[in-house]
Amino acid sequence: MVQTRRFKARSNPSTKQIESDPFDSLQQTSTTTTTSSHLQQNVNKPSLCTLPPETFLQICKNLSPADLLSLSRTCKLFYNDLCCEDSLTIQEIWRQSRYSFMPYRKLVPPEGMSERQYVRFLLENKCHFCGRKSKSTKIYWERKIRCCAGCLETRMIDSQDVEPIILQILHCRWDRNGTRVYWRDQIMEKIKEIEPLSQTERVEWGEQQYKKFKLNERELNRRNIEDNCARRQQRYDRKKIIDEKLNEMISETNKNGSPIWIRAYLEKCSSLSKAYTYNRPFTERSWKILKQKLVREYNEMLDADESEEIDFICGEYLSDLDSNNSEDKN
Ligand SMILES: [Zn+2]
Repeated sequence: MVQTRRFKARSNPSTKQIESDPFDSLQQTSTTTTTSSHLQQNVNKPSLCTLPPETFLQICKNLSPADLLSLSRTCKLFYNDLCCEDSLTIQEIWRQSRYSFMPYRKLVPPEGMSERQYVRFLLENKCHFCGRKSKSTKIYWERKIRCCAGCLETRMIDSQDVEPIILQILHCRWDRNGTRVYWRDQIMEKIKEIEPLSQTERVEWGEQQYKKFKLNERELNRRNIEDNCARRQQRYDRKKIIDEKLNEMISETNKNGSPIWIRAYLEKCSSLSKAYTYNRPFTERSWKILKQKLVREYNEMLDADESEEIDFICGEYLSDLDSNNSEDKN
């Protein structure tokens, strides 16, 4: 059953809003609008906004998660439609889009995240702490956050002087020196919890916390495994597209019909081997940038080879001259 594009305001949110969103205030104030008022509002709006709700939803079902996110940001109306976390239809659209376009992401969203929030979390490179968007941000499932390397470093501490009862219930990471490090705020929180407890209470507390930790650990492992598979798959997909683009480039010819590019030279370019290593999707824009780099490197390589060849020919010529001169003297 397709629900209407207008959705009732949430009285009992099923999912917590775990992210700050510039449109949240807009959503809360306008979700009570009815379909008829929505249609009245659309009289002067572009054609996509005037589509019947069912058609709009049908279109959305064929969009990738990235496109859905972009669409939800184009105007308040689409935002309200696509960000209605309580609508099963809307949740299904995001889920289906994820399954179709991100087949390596099969696990359900973590507790507290809606389908849209989950997709956004997976796709956006925004650091939870500094708010900067960076390709180097990584997901830390034990915190359900994305974080950049700089912020991570300032928030981790080593386990020195921390009681083992606390360490056994927290997830650790390894720093560059191979030392176990923990999230500082998690350590501080647990110290605060344990401080007022008696020795017996501490033991009981430790047992309960350890049970919770073990339960979370299972999910954490599954998510980390999925992350690894996703990275492998994304890299594979990326390489496939790059190779296709490279083949297209190699098949380019000049007006005489002769090939412009020599494969061996292009394949030697460091920008190409570097491009293979990233996990992020390879877009038309990525190819435009990579091609510019390849052309530059390719020409530099040719120039270097030509000057080497000239040096070699000159060297040969000069040594011939030298030997002729010495023969003449003799
Ligand atoms: Zn950061």
